[in-house]
Amino acid sequence: MGAFAMQDERRIAKALFGFWKKGKSNRMANRLNRKRLHNTGGKEMEQIKIGDMTLYWLNGGVTHLDGGCMFGVVPKPLWTKKYPYNEKNQIELRTDPIFFQWNGKNILIESGIGNGKLSEKQKRNYGVTEESQIDASLQEFGLTRNDIDIVLMTHLHFDHACGLTVPKGDGFVSAFPNAVIYTSEIEWEEMRHPNIRSKSTYWKENWEAVQDQVEIFTEEITIEGAIRMIHTGGHSDGHAIVTAESGGEKWVHMADLLPTHAHRNPLWVMAYDDYPMTSIYQKQKWIDKAIQEDAWFIFYHDAIYRALKWDGEGNIVEKVKRA
Ligand SMILES: [Zn+2]
Repeated sequence: MGAFAMQDERRIAKALFGFWKKGKSNRMANRLNRKRLHNTGGKEMEQIKIGDMTLYWLNGGVTHLDGGCMFGVVPKPLWTKKYPYNEKNQIELRTDPIFFQWNGKNILIESGIGNGKLSEKQKRNYGVTEESQIDASLQEFGLTRNDIDIVLMTHLHFDHACGLTVPKGDGFVSAFPNAVIYTSEIEWEEMRHPNIRSKSTYWKENWEAVQDQVEIFTEEITIEGAIRMIHTGGHSDGHAIVTAESGGEKWVHMADLLPTHAHRNPLWVMAYDDYPMTSIYQKQKWIDKAIQEDAWFIFYHDAIYRALKWDGEGNIVEKVKRA
């Protein structure tokens, strides 16, 4: 690419994003000049362009959880046809945050498994063989954690929220000190006052250091004009989904109502779900709606697909596979 073309791109980027904070438009222009993005594993960073939004998957680490727990009452001979498992009956579940830029804002969905947050025993129990490499992933865009403006948290279970804080001294500090962190009011309440069952997944290490950054909503909130967070309950009482529309195209992140592509059947809900009938009802509603609207489904946990579209018969008609 010649110098003139590069200048053109910078000019276009500046015109489009002129309202960006100083420095961000330069970074945007730099990003436009990149042909390929590589994460720390040397693999190409997966991405999908939906309307004018481009979503990327950062390296947030991985867990391996019991397949039986992940598929609830579904018999093993059925779920093993749909998703691979290892000799310990565990299935691979990525914890990769979704990153995108919109309205001049750097936005994350979920925060990853974190780094330096888990004991050796916890790592063994949750099958964490790789921790988050968010710093390295953001570096691909010329960004740091300080540049993140918004974090959308569908819920605050440890496998989504560990990345919100980083260890410092004897305590923890915010991983994204300049971000507004959105979550539902019910989720935020339960995070701080977990019950006898949920205290195993809502940890004060993950919320105390970020409590001043949290913005709550009750039923629904629209963020930056195009992104909706909608409370569903089900998996947890305060669970929410994220959906957006741009250029006539739609995507939906159903989070742990649809942790992997193998959970498409509304009845296939996790043993981890606190309110399984609510999960089933919400899955029916939102999966049907998304298929009718030809929307992309976006995944945080799926080890096979980053995103896909289904037809009415449940066939995968478009997909972005994990590299
Ligand atoms: Zn999860």
